[in-house]
Parts: sequence; structure tokens; C-alpha cells
Amino acid sequence: MKLNKRQEQIVEIVKNNGTITGEQIADELHLTRATLRPDLAILTMAGFLDARPRVGYFYTGKTSGRLLTENIRNLLVEDYHSMPAVVRDNMSVYDAIVTMFTEDVGTVFVVDDHSVLVGVVSRKDFLRASIGKQDLTSLPVTMMMTRMPNVTYCYINDLLVDVGKKLIEREIDALPVVKETQEGLIVIGRVTKTNITKALVTLAEKS
Ligand code: ADP
Repeated sequence: MKLNKRQEQIVEIVKNNGTITGEQIADELHLTRATLRPDLAILTMAGFLDARPRVGYFYTGKTSGRLLTENIRNLLVEDYHSMPAVVRDNMSVYDAIVTMFTEDVGTVFVVDDHSVLVGVVSRKDFLRASIGKQDLTSLPVTMMMTRMPNVTYCYINDLLVDVGKKLIEREIDALPVVKETQEGLIVIGRVTKTNITKALVTLAEKS
């Protein structure tokens, strides 16, 4: 986060004074307490300063680099996931390819008649099917998918950075977001490399 000149001055004053009231900061800057209020609110919300009622402001010791790292670490799947593209396990490879095109995704999740996750198919799986001599309209999608329990998935309240690590370790592009039910894991979302890129860009534009 880029601080303006006055905010930088406030941080310096607080740093040099230990704990200091808003009134005292205003005096040092020859400004009114009301004029400073928005800057103090921003600095407190951004984590540079902390405020204790009836005591005053103090410096948290956090640099903008450290605050950015903390923000990245706290990003949640919940806030950045997308809608999943799913196909039923009785579909043909041909129909699943059509779904991949119409839903404009690179990974499709395969579910059973209870919406329970049974597998995942990606572009490469379909290419593999296409270079064979098989008839794609009669080839079941289940023949080409990576099946459970080998599917890597995540939960809605997982950290985005942990999902990123899984994508890198497993060399894959997407994970289904699942919810545990008595029947099994139900697909409720999707996290891709694009979601993680978007999260980083959003964070960079906010800071
Ligand atoms: P692409 O085929 O577009 O390169 P990926 O790199 O994601 O896409 O897929 C590579 C392989 O990993 C495929 O065989 C696919 O079935 C498998 N795969 C994709 N996503 C997952 C996942 N979440 N869990 C387990 N395997 C996966």
C-alpha cells in the first residue's frame, strides 16, 4: 500500500513516540484532529497502526511488504472460486468435450447421479482420447478421467495459497471445491490458476 505524505508523517510520529493520542499527533502536524481522522482510520485498517481506547495509537512494526504477505496468506478459496463445470459419469467423451467448450473451461469434473465427485478430465485427457482410433461418441468419459481417490480437491474455507501449492506440486490447472456429505464429496466450486492470478491482481490494485 502506498501511503500519502501525511500518512507517512503520521507513521513517523507514532514510531518515534511509542504511544500517542490523535490529539497529540494533530498538534505535532499543526492540524485538527478531525482533519487527521480519515488518515488515522486508513493507517489502522491497513495494519500500520493499532489504536487502544483511552490510550492512543502505536506502531505495529509492520512494513507494507509484510502486510502484503499477510494479506496474501489470508486469501480464502471462498472469496475467489468460480462455478464448476460438471458432467455426469454416464456421458460420452464427445459430450464432455462439448461441455468443456460451451462452459469455456479447461477442466471438467465428473459426478455420479448423487452429484458426488468421481473424477476429473482435462484438455490433455481429451487429446489423448482424440488421437486414438476410438469413436468419441461411444467412449465413456469415465474411461479417460483421473478418478477418485486420485483427485486433488479443496474446501471452501481453505487458504488460496495452499491451493496454489497443490496446483504446483501436482502439476495441474484446477481443483474442485467440495463439500462433505453423507453420500460423498459434492462439487460446489472450482479454483484454477486464473482465480489465483485474479486474486493477486485484485490485491495489487487495492494496495
Ligand atoms: P491440461 O490437460 O489442460 O494440461 P492439467 O495439467 O490440469 O490440464 O491436467 C493434467 C492431468 O492431471 C490430466 O490427466 C488430468 O486428468 C489430471 N488432473 C487435472 N486436475 C486434477 C485434479 N484436481 N486432481 C487430480 N488430477 C487432476
